[in-house]
Amino acid sequence: MDNKIGLYICTGCGIGEAIDADRLIDIANEDFSPSICKTHECLCSPEGVEILKADIDSGNINKVGIAACSSRVMYDIFDFTLPTERINIREQVVWSQPPADRENIEEDDTQMMAEDYIRMGLAKLNKVLPLEPFKSEAEYAESILVVGGGITGMNAAIDASKAGYSVVLVEKADNLGGWALKLYKKPSPAPHYTEISDPGVKELVEDLEKTSNIKVYTGSVIKEISGAPCMFDVTIQKGTETHDERVGAIVLATGAVPYDATKLGHLGYGNVPNVITHEQFEAMAKKRAINRPSDNTRAECIAFIQCAGSRDENHLNYCSATCCVESLKQAKIFKELNPEGQVYILYKDIRAYGHYELLYKEMQNEGVIFIKGDVDSISENGSGGVQIDTNDFLSQTEITLDMLDLVILATGMVPSTSIEIETEKIKKEADDSEKTDTQAKDAPLENMASGKILASNILNLNYRQGPELPELKYGFPDSHFICFPYETRRTGIYAAGSVRAPMDIYQAIDDAGGAALKAIQCVELSKKGLGVHPRANDISYPEFDMSRCTQCKRCTEECPFGAINEDEKSNPLPNPTRCRRCGICMGACPERIISFKNYSVPLVGNMLKAINVPEEFDEKPRILILACENDAYPALDMVGINRLQLSPWIRVISVRCLGSLNLIWIADSLSAGIDGVLLLGCKHGDDYQCHFIQGSALADIRLSKISETLDRLALESERVRILEVSITDFDKLPGMIKDFEDTLEELGPNPMKGF
Ligand code: SF4
Ligand code: SF4
Repeated sequence: MDNKIGLYICTGCGIGEAIDADRLIDIANEDFSPSICKTHECLCSPEGVEILKADIDSGNINKVGIAACSSRVMYDIFDFTLPTERINIREQVVWSQPPADRENIEEDDTQMMAEDYIRMGLAKLNKVLPLEPFKSEAEYAESILVVGGGITGMNAAIDASKAGYSVVLVEKADNLGGWALKLYKKPSPAPHYTEISDPGVKELVEDLEKTSNIKVYTGSVIKEISGAPCMFDVTIQKGTETHDERVGAIVLATGAVPYDATKLGHLGYGNVPNVITHEQFEAMAKKRAINRPSDNTRAECIAFIQCAGSRDENHLNYCSATCCVESLKQAKIFKELNPEGQVYILYKDIRAYGHYELLYKEMQNEGVIFIKGDVDSISENGSGGVQIDTNDFLSQTEITLDMLDLVILATGMVPSTSIEIETEKIKKEADDSEKTDTQAKDAPLENMASGKILASNILNLNYRQGPELPELKYGFPDSHFICFPYETRRTGIYAAGSVRAPMDIYQAIDDAGGAALKAIQCVELSKKGLGVHPRANDISYPEFDMSRCTQCKRCTEECPFGAINEDEKSNPLPNPTRCRRCGICMGACPERIISFKNYSVPLVGNMLKAINVPEEFDEKPRILILACENDAYPALDMVGINRLQLSPWIRVISVRCLGSLNLIWIADSLSAGIDGVLLLGCKHGDDYQCHFIQGSALADIRLSKISETLDRLALESERVRILEVSITDFDKLPGMIKDFEDTLEELGPNPMKGF
């Protein structure tokens, strides 16, 4: 395809005053001969856009370069069908540099920076190919599979159905309702916030039955899921029968289970009679009889022990979020059934968040005694009851409660995807019923590059990286702490409710709606061949030049989203609707055979080679910044927006993720005489911020291998630095870059300059 590039330079927003735009046109004409070069005083105005549209409609151009503001703004206005490159000369040049000195324009740093960006933008456009959305030959499905028929699953199913999507709901138990079926009452998040009410399962099931387009499989499990968004083929096992469904996206709503109280022997469970759990109390409350299990006599004095297993490094490291409010609720139930009864609550902190504080206050007013302290010992009191010795942290006194009839452990919440609990439970159930469940027994426990794959035997994905979801932390299959609630690391599968994070019924209902909407978004985008969050609407997708593939498996192992399967000969089998378009496979491939039409190793290589590197004696060092588009590039924009100043030596290329980094870019930059390369990406490691899970961590690993290359070039490894940047660090960025500049000054100019 012949390149017919139209270059449009905006002189608004102070650009025309700060730099010489006509000179930019001269540079473009000299080096790239675009078909059209124009300036306009306000390109984003209706008149400006009209000029662009007229040129596009005329057929005189087939690619558009817009040198103006950052691509992060005005994207809806500069939205053309032709390949379009936004050249950022506003935020990252004129707003973060002093105005050019027109008396000495040839040598002026601001002008030189703008000229380099024009060259880099046009060099990229030269390589960009027209984009076409991915379209499979296979039949596309739009329905939503909901796995789990509890409160979350039923709400997700109803929400998706009301939005116009057909739903397939699979529940392993014979009845819908899940955990809530075990509840006597639930607390209230509505005024007056102190009421407790029926869990409402019956009404919800009736609602679901009245809602059209929901096909329910109870007493059923997922035998296998293969395929990809809009093409998921699901095999459902119901007894001896199997049913096949094709769905577009999946909501995982399999909930949580209580922490195994048999592991809480130090709190008396299993050792001291009359030590029970929340779950057992709820069963008693349903019968409206809170009795001592040992002799079935009415309990008069009870104590709750909070954080039973939670916030404990030997058990569950996290707060289970609901147990404090559950104990307050159960204390209220007890007081309603036995107004003269006495209740103690032993706690680390009472976490009755939001308006549940009012229930806490009510229980204080009702005479419940709260003791902040750990259990020192728990034993039988000699008369069939229980004794607890504790140290009251607030009064600094030893306290003995020796007349307790019942002690209730506020056991924590474990996601149903958790390896230990679920695998053990499944095996036990399989053994108990003497069924052979080979899938449960063979459940994998692997450490993949994309995180530990959970072994819960719920989804049984036919994916190269393993049959369940990767874990974020503590067995929860969420994907990202901050940016992407509901997302898992498998595109098209969204987690909702307590399988995603500890939460109460009301949060789970909100979660159900959120996850259903994410599933719908995924279906809508995938059927148009577009990427999902965080590159929503991206038409590009990775293409593989298989003739040069060495079957090294790097791409199939390192894709954070399990998008690439493998055939029996280890050839990669990409699934574009699973792909999030991060480019990590592109960075991983040693043969450099994975490319996007608008993002590839040679394309970025062309951009960096377009930088005009002054000679050593000009004393104008050059620093290439490869900035992750998710946080680092926006942070650089923020520097300009806040009119802070950036180093005049930097030239920035936005990358999809530092994980897409190919080391050849660094080698080429240094060979071209660039003095240093700075990689700006998201925080990695624990509580990572990388939008593609492990991209910045992989970049760090790859970079550790760069010293070999630098040695070959006889260059110092300090010339390459990787830094973690979040968007809120924008004010620190000028200082971080200055620090790198100082290091380069100490090292002196790149000896490759001029070669
Ligand atoms: S671009 Fe990212 S999500 Fe897509 S296949 Fe490559 S590594 Fe996987
Ligand atoms: S990384 Fe490249 S060479 Fe290796 S299997 Fe994937 S496509 Fe083939």
